[in-house]
Amino acid sequence: MTTALTHSQENAIDVTALTGAERTVALYASDMPNGRRRYTADQARAWIVQGAQRVGPGELQRRAEYFRGWRLLDMHGLTTVQVQARHEQRFPNARRLVLAHKEASGNVSRDGMTDTARKRNAGAVVDGECPCRGTGGIAAWGPGIELMCPVHRRAQIDAHHRASRAGA
Ligand SMILES: [Zn+2]
Repeated sequence: MTTALTHSQENAIDVTALTGAERTVALYASDMPNGRRRYTADQARAWIVQGAQRVGPGELQRRAEYFRGWRLLDMHGLTTVQVQARHEQRFPNARRLVLAHKEASGNVSRDGMTDTARKRNAGAVVDGECPCRGTGGIAAWGPGIELMCPVHRRAQIDAHHRASRAGA
């Protein structure tokens, strides 16, 4: 696959400092087999560390944000051909991605998440042109009927919450 990185910093990856989506991306890139079975908490943790080392911190965060952006659109049936194609290029094995997501969720509930990671956890980026074209609203079903964009409307809401918390 990829060559192993051996920087001392990357040998000290703490899984709790990674968001849920970053752990999903790491598991996808790890040696975790595709077969559906139960793994120990230690094994899952070791694969997250392995995958995170392989992908590297910047790329891990980038892929995780794209994964979240795709997922939010997909959950609402709003993925475009372009966004879907780029997603499938990044994660060609859909079944493995589901498996990685399940293992990552399990690890998040067992090991928890640092505050810094939690602040990053909702981060989502659309790889391509978002159906809302950055406006936060998606024209749907007929004139004057607009859907809220699950990616960009959410970002606006989160920013608003952050601003009001900071002001409190
Ligand atoms: Zn959007």
